[in-house]
Amino acid sequence: LPAARDRLRIAIQKSGRLSEPARALLASCGLSWRESRDRLFCYGESLPVDLLLVRDDDIPGLIADGVCDLGIVGRNVLAEQGSQRIDDAGSVKYREWRALGFGACRLDIAVPDSWEWSGSAQLRGKRIATSYPALLGAWLREQDVVADVVPLSGSVEIAPRLGQADAICDLVSSGATLAANQLKPVLTLLQSEAVLAGPAVPFVDAREELAALLLRRLDGVLRLKDSKLLLFQAQRQTLPALLKLLPDAEPPTMLQVDGADTLALQALCHGAMTWQRLEDLKLAGARGLMVLPVERMLA
Ligand code: ATP
Ligand code: MG
Repeated sequence: LPAARDRLRIAIQKSGRLSEPARALLASCGLSWRESRDRLFCYGESLPVDLLLVRDDDIPGLIADGVCDLGIVGRNVLAEQGSQRIDDAGSVKYREWRALGFGACRLDIAVPDSWEWSGSAQLRGKRIATSYPALLGAWLREQDVVADVVPLSGSVEIAPRLGQADAICDLVSSGATLAANQLKPVLTLLQSEAVLAGPAVPFVDAREELAALLLRRLDGVLRLKDSKLLLFQAQRQTLPALLKLLPDAEPPTMLQVDGADTLALQALCHGAMTWQRLEDLKLAGARGLMVLPVERMLA
């Protein structure tokens, strides 16, 4: 058994798409670190929560082996390696604890622009280049399509032009890279984003409490994404129409002001509070509208 530990170690990407947002998210949970000279390990100062900065591909293995307790990594990487990281009982050693709302992308099949796409059967006997051979292989079996999976570690999108493959299975966010290579997305295998990954079983030492604390703060931060406190006054009879315009709001707090008919309201809204929404609210009878940022929340 690994020795009981009283510090939590989180693996995050050293440099790449997820590194900055991952650090920013953890910092907004109140974590701060003292950086080591080699910049691979950051010692937690405000809480006993340390960071290990690594290649994103190494994160699932580090958690599975217990070298790190948690990790922030794309769901795509977690899913690709899932089938390799199983315990004696045959279940995966880690699981997705939370979706984090950044690093969104899709794992798509893309084919040359010139193809007239008619469905997955069209991939029969074709060569498909990918950095996700496990996910692609599983999907092909599910579709009952026998195709040739060509594993590549990078630059997958140029494989068709180089004659290495007929189609590709790759991560797509805007689609600009595909378009630049005369490819078009035709199917999505996985919707991905950055996730907090952790072990499938609870910790048995002080790390359990630390992890719970981190999750509580994280949930507060994630809930507040886009959230605003909305203040306004309104006549009581306009309330039903106003509340209809606020489907994303928590039940508002209401105070009665001068007489029974005027109310002052405050509501925490979770969707974006655009000018258009404010104008609609005003038309429906809201007065003195004010939108305030929410810095912290503890449910
Ligand atoms: P590392 O050096 O850590 O191995 P990498 O090159 O494998 O880095 P990045 O390109 O930084 O990784 O991507 C990290 C993650 O960002 C991906 O696994 C994916 O979850 C997410 N991501 C979001 N949009 C895209 C995109 N358009 N292309 C690739 N990954 C994306
Ligand atoms: Mg990588």
